[in-house]
Amino acid sequence: MRLSPFHAALAALVLAACQPVRPAAPAAAVPADDNLNAVLWVQRSAEYRAVASQAYRAAIARLDEALAQPDWDALAPEERENPAAGLPPAVVLDIDETVLDNSPYQARLVRDGGEYSDPGWDAWVEERKARPVPGVLEFAREADRREVTMIYISNRATYLEQATLDNLRQAGLPVAGPDAFLGLGTRVEGCTSQGSDKDCRRRLIGRKYRVLMQFGDQLGDFVRIEDNTPAGRQKLLERFDGWIGQRWWVLPNPTYGSWEPALFGNDWKQPREARRAAKRAALETAP
Ligand SMILES: [Mg+2]
Repeated sequence: MRLSPFHAALAALVLAACQPVRPAAPAAAVPADDNLNAVLWVQRSAEYRAVASQAYRAAIARLDEALAQPDWDALAPEERENPAAGLPPAVVLDIDETVLDNSPYQARLVRDGGEYSDPGWDAWVEERKARPVPGVLEFAREADRREVTMIYISNRATYLEQATLDNLRQAGLPVAGPDAFLGLGTRVEGCTSQGSDKDCRRRLIGRKYRVLMQFGDQLGDFVRIEDNTPAGRQKLLERFDGWIGQRWWVLPNPTYGSWEPALFGNDWKQPREARRAAKRAALETAP
């Protein structure tokens, strides 16, 4: 029997429909990275910008009150060696993820499947391309109007000072005087810090200034952490609870920080998978 062209086409269609469905070629694997969402939140969410601005605006609103009270000081009592009253006013700020946004460096690590390294970090700092954290320029203008000195206590190494000062200036931040940048490795007479602790540098500033406020993205930016475990950190926070949003201003940073190693025993030498397993085990799946 000869099929008409129409019926031939119909038969071809029916035959084609009866072919077994071939599985689609697998899509190219998208590498997983523990930091993808956190870095995107900082870079792409309006909410990050809102939260950061919110902190700096709330701080501006309390500046006059802080200035007017001679005994208002934001150093922990154990880090204040001399009375603050009568000293010129200053604010102490951390740099990374507090006044400068280094999320492009984090984004490159996600893109390349890399992890933090000192040489990689130094190369990023030398680029001098970090942008200001939302809200900080507004705060800096208000501090300047009231003759409050901005002092940066940072764990950027002292050999990165020039690149850091260049970047701060390019970002529109004030850099004034010899105490403007106190990096990791700054010598403080009569004081020895452990590792990257900032306590001696805060003491140094306390000798010369009344510290109205401190700004940071990590607890260690404000006071020395003696016990970097979730419980130890919680206890410290509770001790200074009344100062949060008053003398201490915390900026959001979900991408890294000492909160993270606290979850895996502060042991960075473990393989990535072991650290990830410890973090998964730290998830709270019940209220
Ligand atoms: Mg920081």
